[in-house]
Amino acid sequence: MIDQTHDPALKSWVESANRPDTDFPIQNLPYATFCRRGEERSRLGVAIGDMLLDATEAFDLQSMHRVMSMSHSARADVRRIISDYLAHYSTGAERFLHPISGVDLLLPTDIPDYTDFYASIDHATNVGRMFRPDNPLLPNYKWMPIAYHGRASSVIVSGAPVRRPWGQIVSNPAGPPVYAPCRLLDYEVELGAFLGRGNPIGESIPIAEAEDHLFGVCLLNDWSARDIQSWEYQPLGPFLAKNFATSISPWVVTMQALEPFRCAAPPRPEGDPSPLPHLTTAGDGAFKITLEVWLRSAAMLDPVRVSRGDFSSMYWTLAQMVAHHSSNGCPMRTGDLIGSGTVSGPERGNRGCLLEITTRGAEPLQLPNGDVRRFLEDGDEVILRGYCEAPGFRRIGLGECRGVILPAIAAP
Ligand code: MN
Repeated sequence: MIDQTHDPALKSWVESANRPDTDFPIQNLPYATFCRRGEERSRLGVAIGDMLLDATEAFDLQSMHRVMSMSHSARADVRRIISDYLAHYSTGAERFLHPISGVDLLLPTDIPDYTDFYASIDHATNVGRMFRPDNPLLPNYKWMPIAYHGRASSVIVSGAPVRRPWGQIVSNPAGPPVYAPCRLLDYEVELGAFLGRGNPIGESIPIAEAEDHLFGVCLLNDWSARDIQSWEYQPLGPFLAKNFATSISPWVVTMQALEPFRCAAPPRPEGDPSPLPHLTTAGDGAFKITLEVWLRSAAMLDPVRVSRGDFSSMYWTLAQMVAHHSSNGCPMRTGDLIGSGTVSGPERGNRGCLLEITTRGAEPLQLPNGDVRRFLEDGDEVILRGYCEAPGFRRIGLGECRGVILPAIAAP
C-alpha cells in the first residue's frame, strides 16, 4: 500500500538524505545489521542518507530477524514510526545516528536456507542456446520457476573477497578431468529476496499470500565457475560451481519501500501456456528495479559499467517463486534467501553475466584501458548497483554489492 511514507515531498532532518543522488532518502529506509567499531554486539540499523539510525537503541528492535518475523501489517507500522522519527526532529535524536562509513556492516541476518531460481527467460534462452542451439529452453521452463538449492554457509556480505575456487575441469573432451583452479570464473547479477514469515512443513503458501511472506530485497552476485559447472551440472544441477561464494549487499530494501515501483509482469508471448492456477496471480506482481554491473580490473582506477538490466522483465515473479517453492509443503523459514536468477534482457547491453556477454569467451569484452575480458581475472572487482525510479515518486537505491577476486590458493 502507498502511504505517507512514500510521499515524494517528505524530507528528513538528516540533511544527506535530501540530496537527489542518495540511495537512501527517507522514502527508502532499508535495514542493515551492523557493529559499532570495537563492539562485538550486532545491532539493527536503518539507512538514512549517509547515516545509519541505530534502531536497536532507538526502538528496541533487537535484530533483523525480529522485524522479519513480524506480520506484514506490523512491519508497515514499524516503517511509519521510523519514517515519522526521521521526518520530525526531536531533541537528542542524533545520538542514535552513526556515519555508515564508521561502522562494520554484517550479513543482514542468519540465513537458514538459500535457493537460486532461473527466472529470466532471456538468460535461460541465451545460456540454453550455447548448449542446445536448436532447443534452448527445456519443456518445463514455461510451467514452473526452475531453481536449485544453494548453500547458505557461503553467502557473504559485500566487500568480502572471493577466492578463485579449485575444481574438476575437463579441458580436453577426450581426456580425463583435472583438479585445477577455475579458469572460467563469472558473476551473475541477481535480485535476492528474504522471507519474512515462513510456513509449517506440509502446508503451502497460497500465491495470493506469497508477497506477505516476503520481507525485502537485496543485490545478489551468484559467483559461478563455468568450467566446473559444465562438467558437473548433469544430472542433478549446479553444485561446487556455485557454492564456494554468493555475495549480497548489506541493505535490505523492504517490500513496502518497493510499492511505488510495482508494475505488471510482461505479457506472455502468444503461444506460451498460462501458469497453472496455483501459480496464477491477480494484479501487478513485478517490480521495476534497474540492476547494473560495473567491473574494475586491478589496473583500472574507476570501474566501467558492463550491463544494465530490468528486474521487471523476468518471466516469473517473486510471488510465483515463493508459491512454487512451498507448493509441495516445503517449509520456508524466516530469513531464507532466494535468488531470482541472472537478470538479463534481450540486448547485449543487458546480459547479466560474462558467459552471455562474451558468448562463452568467443566475443571478448573490451575494457577502456585496452584490456579484454572473457571471464574474471584475479584482482577484478565486480560491483552491482540497483535502483528504482517511477514518475511521481522519489528514486530509491539498493546500494552496492562488491567483491574482489583473490588468486586460487597454492595446490591444496
Ligand atoms: Mn544464479
